[in-house]
Amino acid sequence: MSYSRRDFLSHLSLGLGSVVALPGLTMLDNTKRLSSAAGLAELPESEKLGVALVGLGRYATGQLAPALQETTLCRLAGIVTGTPRKEEEWGRKYDLPESNIYNYETYDQIADNDDIDIIYVVLPNSMHAEYSIRAAEAGKHVICEKPMATSARDCQRMIDASQKAGRKLSIGYRLHFEPHNKEMMRLGRSEVLGNAEQMSGTHSFPLNDPGAWRLDKELAGGGPLMDVGIYVIQAGLYTMGQLPTSVMAWDETQNPENFPEVEGTIRWELNFPKDAVLYGESSYEDRGNNFRLEATNGWAELSPAYSYSGIRGDTSEEPMDFPQVNQQALQMDDFARCILEDDRTIVPGEMGKRDMIIMEAIYESAETGREVSLDFDKEEGYIRPLAE
Ligand code: NDP
Repeated sequence: MSYSRRDFLSHLSLGLGSVVALPGLTMLDNTKRLSSAAGLAELPESEKLGVALVGLGRYATGQLAPALQETTLCRLAGIVTGTPRKEEEWGRKYDLPESNIYNYETYDQIADNDDIDIIYVVLPNSMHAEYSIRAAEAGKHVICEKPMATSARDCQRMIDASQKAGRKLSIGYRLHFEPHNKEMMRLGRSEVLGNAEQMSGTHSFPLNDPGAWRLDKELAGGGPLMDVGIYVIQAGLYTMGQLPTSVMAWDETQNPENFPEVEGTIRWELNFPKDAVLYGESSYEDRGNNFRLEATNGWAELSPAYSYSGIRGDTSEEPMDFPQVNQQALQMDDFARCILEDDRTIVPGEMGKRDMIIMEAIYESAETGREVSLDFDKEEGYIRPLAE
């Protein structure tokens, strides 16, 4: 970022009250207009916040880099990769200057690069903590993919590092920006369907590659729970708008010989105040992608619930009628907006740590066969506000 750009941005963030949001949006609005509706008009390309993606695997390649071509407040400015072939391919495809291309050895030199404002960590799970902390130490804002880390302790180290550096930290929880999931939050927390009594959700896919890092405990931290079951936990919490009080869980791996290090299938019951329960399941041996809320006066369901697109929702009143959006573009733009406006992200590190505490309790219960209580202190008990 050049001096003039920084100057422009600080001027912009001070004068937000005078920035006019785009006019009324219809159901067919494209991502750009939805992003802009977050409160800031689209920035000229040269003024957008620069994002560097770290770890150019499937998610960075298939989702994040394309989404960064749609964002209105940030842009793909750099990459960090351990694969020389990708340096060349990505550099050419996205017209990246050589000075913005890093590997894991040169990573810390990003500190000297004003063109990069945000580092987006998309590495295997156990690498999230180290690379997020080094990013904060380099003076950058951080988006870290889910699961935030592989232990609540590491999550806290990441939060501390960002705070110490005076930089923002958010987690790649894209579904907080997805209209059907947002409607589920509203329905669960409002009186429309009565009080939430029972929720159920499954997120599973068959993983048949024995060499995958997702099956390596060192790199993944855990199995399908950490990888995709986390979305069911998220849905339970954002639908209830409350913290769970205890959990009971069972390892139900069907073919243990295929899963020597992590669980193949896990099931849990997460208890909330007033006897509300989330029945969750996640597996690498099956397929499933749904979430259902039963309330005193009706129900609501998402199926599929967690996909990048094609999410569908139905309720006891009427089917949901919302557009498909570019979730990643909205998520990254909202983080950029938070930086520009010095606002708090709705998906902060504290939320990632909260989910890690719940997942650790699920594993503990599955291992011990006992119910594990959850007692969050004030800082750990983050619940996203409903309005945003
Ligand atoms: P991939 O295996 O496809 O990519 C991971 C990349 O990390 C590799 O391509 C490589 O990039 C880099 N890497 C560095 N060290 C290692 C190592 N020891 N083993 C393997 N890869 C390494 O994973 P995904 O892209 O599917 O997942 C990455 C992260 O993103 C995970 O934390 C996952 O949970 C999260 N994710 C989030 C999604 C969401 O919807 N929010 C969806 C999918 C994933 P390089 O060659 O550039 O060094």
